[in-house]
Amino acid sequence: MTRILVISDIHANLTALQAVLDAAANVDATWCLGDLVGYGPDPNECVELVRSIQNLTCLIGNHDAAAIGSIDTMFFNREARLSAQWVKSRISKENILFLKSLPERVVIGEATLVHGSPRNPVWEYLLDIQAAAINSSYFKTQLCFVGHTHVPVVYTVDELGGGTMRKLDHKEIVPLKQRLIINPGSVGQPRDRDKRASYAIYNPEQKTWEAYRIDYDISSVQQRIVTAKLPLRHAQRLAEGW
Ligand code: ZN
Repeated sequence: MTRILVISDIHANLTALQAVLDAAANVDATWCLGDLVGYGPDPNECVELVRSIQNLTCLIGNHDAAAIGSIDTMFFNREARLSAQWVKSRISKENILFLKSLPERVVIGEATLVHGSPRNPVWEYLLDIQAAAINSSYFKTQLCFVGHTHVPVVYTVDELGGGTMRKLDHKEIVPLKQRLIINPGSVGQPRDRDKRASYAIYNPEQKTWEAYRIDYDISSVQQRIVTAKLPLRHAQRLAEGW
């Protein structure tokens, strides 16, 4: 039985990342769908911890691209832009090289991996059935794993523009029988009003996706955000999951 840890949107939250890696334990591989940095206080620590993971496949996210200067932060909101500038001034040379090496799209077995969407891997948010349906013609595999919205969700998709959307709760198991787009949610900044770190375990042989949430020490991350003089909003939202 192969267990693959699927994570996304760590956002420089080392405490949440450590909690997820500890809780997932004994996985055969880890797939990270991007946004290792941005918003949070621990960009270098998070990139270093991700780099140390065995059997890692890691994609680039829009905040990673901003940190290495490969995209313009003009389209970021004010706080995201400030945080991107903060990361840029601190990220180490080794970590920049790692982020620069990350691909926008990877296909492994039955799954296509991207950060945002298969149509526009770095930027597009899949927020509704229409967007998911349009994107169904942009990947050839049965499954597509995305992050970026920070909400754990599964879409069934068809090329006629139809489909369904369902938010996933802790310990929910999704049978992977049809064409699906799935999001593991966010490790370091959940936005579905559930403050717990979000992740998933993909089992390609059993064809299942297990959604999980885990508590972590939010106040220690908030303290580091305050100490780093990052926007206080980044600290407040962690406690409420938005
Ligand atoms: Zn993100």
